[in-house]
Amino acid sequence: MANQNANDNDTNVINVDNNSSNANSNRNDDHDAYEKVCYVCRRPESKAGKMITISPDITICNDCMQKAFNQVNSGNFPKMFGIPEGFPFAGMPDDLMNMMSGMNMGMPEKQKIKKKKPDDQVKPIDLKAIPSPHQIHASLNEYVVGQEHAKKVMSVAVYNHYKRVAALQQKKDVEIEKSNMLMIGPTGSGKTYLVKTLAKLLDVPLAIADATSLTEAGYIGDDIESVISKLLAAADNDVEKAQTGIVFIDEIDKLARKRETNHRDVNGESVQQGLLKLLEGAEVEVPVGASSKNAMVPMVTVDTTNLLFICGGAFPDLEEIIKERLNKKAAIGFQADLKDKYDNDKNLLNKVTVEDLRMFGMVPEFLGRLPIIFTLQGLDEDMLVKILKEPRNAILKQYEKLLEMDEVKLEFEENALRAIAKKALEKDTGARALRAILEEYMLDIMYEIPKDDSIGEVIITKEYIEHTGGPKILLRGQEPLLLQ
Ligand code: ADP
Repeated sequence: MANQNANDNDTNVINVDNNSSNANSNRNDDHDAYEKVCYVCRRPESKAGKMITISPDITICNDCMQKAFNQVNSGNFPKMFGIPEGFPFAGMPDDLMNMMSGMNMGMPEKQKIKKKKPDDQVKPIDLKAIPSPHQIHASLNEYVVGQEHAKKVMSVAVYNHYKRVAALQQKKDVEIEKSNMLMIGPTGSGKTYLVKTLAKLLDVPLAIADATSLTEAGYIGDDIESVISKLLAAADNDVEKAQTGIVFIDEIDKLARKRETNHRDVNGESVQQGLLKLLEGAEVEVPVGASSKNAMVPMVTVDTTNLLFICGGAFPDLEEIIKERLNKKAAIGFQADLKDKYDNDKNLLNKVTVEDLRMFGMVPEFLGRLPIIFTLQGLDEDMLVKILKEPRNAILKQYEKLLEMDEVKLEFEENALRAIAKKALEKDTGARALRAILEEYMLDIMYEIPKDDSIGEVIITKEYIEHTGGPKILLRGQEPLLLQ
């Protein structure tokens, strides 16, 4: 869900796909970096063998060219390319070339596949270049408020993940388990944001998918493998780069079997089953530049062995399951009287076990492939206030910058920030509500201020947020003291 949220604080600043615009320009310069794909059967050169270039944008594999010749010899060629019979058509291949280049049928940019580098040119992972856990943690701290436990677990897991990749590359005789993760936390608590920030600072491609949009092959929706197609797109269709990336699957809890009914939610469970082989590591054939396979889309093989999978979900009612289990345990011993012992336990979610998640409706094999499970806290008022002002790309800093360009100083009274945080808490969507709330108040300010050149400073007050007063406006050269 968070991947397309226009209100996210980070939309302007954190741009994980920031490589793609550079890549676009490189793409034009560096035509040779992409694989040729047969215009007719859509197989890349690595699969279909050497291509015959018909025009700069059109290449045809030997097999299809042979078929074309056969068709020509049998007099059926026009049919094959959907050309009306009787189309004036003389010799081959010059006429074929002119005709097809005139039809403007080049390969769409997003379906071009980067050529595989020869083995000796593939750069092995340099462990020294990977930041160590404390460095990852420190960088995450610059953007993400609180969630200390999650940051620590992720820093170590990511570090170990790339160590494992390095060990595999160097064919070391050690088996390190994959560090795939499952993060549990309420909506808007920073799950997607943590993953985005991580991918950005590691400079690896990231794909974000919503579990609810995934279906088994053949059903309406995106194939399970579409997550790998997304990753490939984020890696600018460079298979090797994609193979070092991170895949984040949000709303994973929605794939759970429904607990309260007897009838099983086959679709969710089968998507979990379908994800197993991706999580574990497999070679999957995925469409390039599309979310489902069809005859017109080129296909490429991606190995998911070195991908880091992170699944996230809010898992509503999981606390009830945990409480039930803990109470049952307590009821057996001497402390049978402490039945409501866990009712107000704020850290209940931290006590989650694989068994609880199984009860929730997750498939055991699926959980088995996510060895690292951790929780995020719901955000409280203090954390929301910090989120407003502290991160490197904090919303307040962004507004301050905007007004600074008009040479106007913007300030928020602490009480005003608390009032905004309180309003956000009411919406129950975590930090996601902050920007929308702030935007509502800043609209008038951003509209009115540029009208009057004499305004030098604006102070947002609690009264303004609570609709009982206005902001304090100071004219240029005026001492703040004058306000009191
Ligand atoms: P979810 O947990 O539902 O995936 P997101 O990560 O999408 O939530 O959070 C929504 C937005 O709220 C983020 O884009 C980010 O700007 C902000 N946010 C959420 N949690 C935090 C946090 N702990 N620190 C800083 N910003 C946060």
